[in-house]
Amino acid sequence: MLDRFNRNVNYLRISVTDRCNQRCVYCMPKEGVTLLKHEDILSFEQILQVVKIAVAKFGINKVRLTGGEPLIKRDIISLVLMIANVDGVEDLSMTTNGVLLNKYALPLKEAGLDRLNVSLDSVDRNEYKTITRCDNLERVLKGLDKAKKIGFRKIKLNCVIAGDMDRKRGQEVKKYADKHGFELRFIRQMDISKGEFWQVEGGDGGNCKKCNRLRLSSDGRIFPCLFSDISYSIKEPGIEEALKRGILNKPESGETADNNFSFIGG
Ligand code: SAM
Ligand code: SF4
Repeated sequence: MLDRFNRNVNYLRISVTDRCNQRCVYCMPKEGVTLLKHEDILSFEQILQVVKIAVAKFGINKVRLTGGEPLIKRDIISLVLMIANVDGVEDLSMTTNGVLLNKYALPLKEAGLDRLNVSLDSVDRNEYKTITRCDNLERVLKGLDKAKKIGFRKIKLNCVIAGDMDRKRGQEVKKYADKHGFELRFIRQMDISKGEFWQVEGGDGGNCKKCNRLRLSSDGRIFPCLFSDISYSIKEPGIEEALKRGILNKPESGETADNNFSFIGG
């Protein structure tokens, strides 16, 4: 459906959990963040209802699952299967840190996931450990290898870069990506609370003029913009109204927001 600025909003990003098995320095403090109560987190049935209404009434045809870390969500494969079976979902993807990809790549593909974005900030074990505060590089690379062999339509790597001093680290990731046929996107580190956001290199993220996204948080709110605190709860006023208000009140461009990436999903 078109918003007030003639942008065709056809893309829903769903944060399935605010929990994560890593603690990336640009995303979360070492001790983690205050987590939602379990009873406030949407069930798969509720998420499915949102997708069905978004597709049938508002023309959403692209869906991405994110988090927190989507692969730590219990039974995530069944959610992928449920969404992949919704008529009108033409493109179903996931953003993951890849730590559990070796285990889940095949079931994800079989359940109907079309595309994967995997976060990979470094191919050096120590650097990776410093950035994510976890020693998981080997597991992520194994997972990527598995996903490639299984034949996902497209695998993209996300690499967060803070400044020029990170370019060398980025170039090493680029070499790895080229060698394995993965598409790489550099994401400049952002600080939403200060209104510091940039367009993703080689992608549409952060480009307000072209923004076609709505976000559903794991506690059931529709956020029309990553860089704004405006949100509408699917519980009250209800799914259809929350989606409608989200599209009709989508800001022309982002400003600042209290949200963090681990909550809203990037
Ligand atoms: N846990 C999954 C992952 O890391 O891919 C999915 C959620 S994560 C919040 C989604 C994306 O947001 C990741 O690619 C991550 O690098 C990016 N991200 C997190 N904090 C960021 C920040 N401050 N600036 C730019 N990108 C950020
Ligand atoms: Fe977790 Fe992803 Fe945030 Fe890293 S970027 S802490 S993996 S949610």
